[in-house]
Parts: sequence; structure tokens; C-alpha cells
Amino acid sequence: VIVTPLNSSKVAAGVDIGGTKIAVGLVDLQGEILAQRSFPTEAALGFERGVRRIVAAIDECLAELGRSREYLEGIGVGCAGPVHPKRGTIDNPYTLPTWDGVDIVTPLRTTFDRPAVLENDADSAAVGEAYFGAGRGARSIVMLTFGTGVGSGILIDGRIYRGAAGTHPELGHLPFDPAGPECYCGVRGCLESLASGTAISAAGKAAGFGDARGVFAALKSGDEQARGIVARALSAVQIAAWTIQHSLLPERIILGGGIIDEHYNLFADVVRKAVESATLNPRGCTDVQQARLRNRAGIVGAAQCLRIAQ
Ligand SMILES: [Zn+2]
Repeated sequence: VIVTPLNSSKVAAGVDIGGTKIAVGLVDLQGEILAQRSFPTEAALGFERGVRRIVAAIDECLAELGRSREYLEGIGVGCAGPVHPKRGTIDNPYTLPTWDGVDIVTPLRTTFDRPAVLENDADSAAVGEAYFGAGRGARSIVMLTFGTGVGSGILIDGRIYRGAAGTHPELGHLPFDPAGPECYCGVRGCLESLASGTAISAAGKAAGFGDARGVFAALKSGDEQARGIVARALSAVQIAAWTIQHSLLPERIILGGGIIDEHYNLFADVVRKAVESATLNPRGCTDVQQARLRNRAGIVGAAQCLRIAQ
């Protein structure tokens, strides 16, 4: 006799908050999104407005499934960092203007009378991959996401590694080049300032390629300057992978994010090179994989963060 847990017919809401877009979805126990909505973040128009729109989107998704709020297990939020998971606060004036020290967990918890959790979006994407994607079967995982910024998530036995005060280490801001571009993190030439989509776009604009897409197109046609921009980014990625290998020695390194969706092989090659050249570590102990959840990672990962927190 298979006993179905009481809550298995319920769904968890996953909320993915980024600088430009908020995506909300209802996720079942298999990691499938049953209904979803998305809308522009427009952070500068105010935090309360943002919360109201998130609540309305969850209600709309429930209505689409013909269900009431009773059907909801709770709400997991993945947000572009910095965030404070223990306090439930978003502290991100960098990409969410005016959203600094705002508590997102309390209004969601009280509105729906259900548990709510907040995590950094790179951590929640890594949780999604660990349970439903490229991380399955690995005990220790480091995920790097290359998009607007460079995010990182460290997971051990399916749990998020916490730093001091329960917060999130930032591998994306490991420094490489003291003469590199200045970053809001406070150093010059960190991984994000050299290898994020924003960094490659900025270098591309300065060189007349327009943006990151232009840089990669020029690289394909053999342009030397484009090759230089990409080589600089990849060299930072390679040293980052070497650093991660020697400090954390994960079983699996997962690469994801918008830049990886289109240029996985370029990035995976240098990460593999770094991993394989780490002579002090056992051979073949770390593999490199591409993230599989793609644009579902934010919602699915955030919903799963709620479930592993319970
Ligand atoms: Zn930085």
C-alpha cells in the first residue's frame, strides 16, 4: 500500500525576483510548474507595490488551477542578492533600487497564513538543480551562474552552505586582476567584473561590438579584439574554477545562466581544464555539467527551498 502524504496534492509557490523581472509559479512535488505569471520588477516604484503584485500573481495562479489558498504549502522566494535568509530581508539597493532592508517573508507569511522562506537566487537555482536537474546524484555541488552578474551556490548533501550570520558567500566576486574594472563589491577585476554578461557587454561597447552578443558574434568570425575580451573573461573563470577546486573540492560544478545557455562549451572547457590540472586532488573526482532547468530554475528552485526548509 502506498500512503500518499497529506500535502502531496498541494503546491509550493516559487517566487524569482530579479532586477528586471519577477516570475511567480506553483510547483508540485516533482518540480513541475503548474501555473505561472511574470511581470516587470520596477523596484524603484516601491517595495509594497512589489509585494502586492507577488500576492496577486500567486492568487491568479491558484485561480487558474481552480484552487483556494488552502491548496498552498507555502512560499519560497529566491532573490537577486544580497539577502538575509534568517531575517527574511532583502538588502539589495544595487540591482533593486529602494529595496534595502525590506522584510519580504513576514507579509507573505501573514497574507497566506503559510510558511515563507527567502534565499539568494543563485542558492535557490542550485537547490533546483540539486533536486530536479544537473545536481542529482552529487553530494557536494558548486553552481556558478553567468548572467547579468556572476552568482554562486554551494550545496552539501542537498543543503545550502551558510556563511557567517546565515548569509551567502560570493564566489562571483573572487578577485583576479587588480588593474581590472571597478566593481560595486569594492575590488577591481573580480570574476563578475570580468566574466558576467554585463562585463563582456561593457568591454564590447568600448571596442565597438555593441554588446556581449556582438562580442561572441565577432569571435566566431575570428576577430582578434573579440578574442581578447572573451579570453580575459575565460581566464578569470579558469582561475575561479581552480580556486573552487582547491578550496571546496566539490563532486560537481554546474554552470548556468544566460551566457552559459549560449556558450556552455567555451566556459566548460576552461573549467574542465582547471579541474583536471589540479594535481593535488584525486583524478576524475569532479565533473562539470550544464544546468538543466534553464528558465525554470528560479521558480522551481525557490519552491524547493521552502520544502527543504520545513
Ligand atoms: Zn565584484
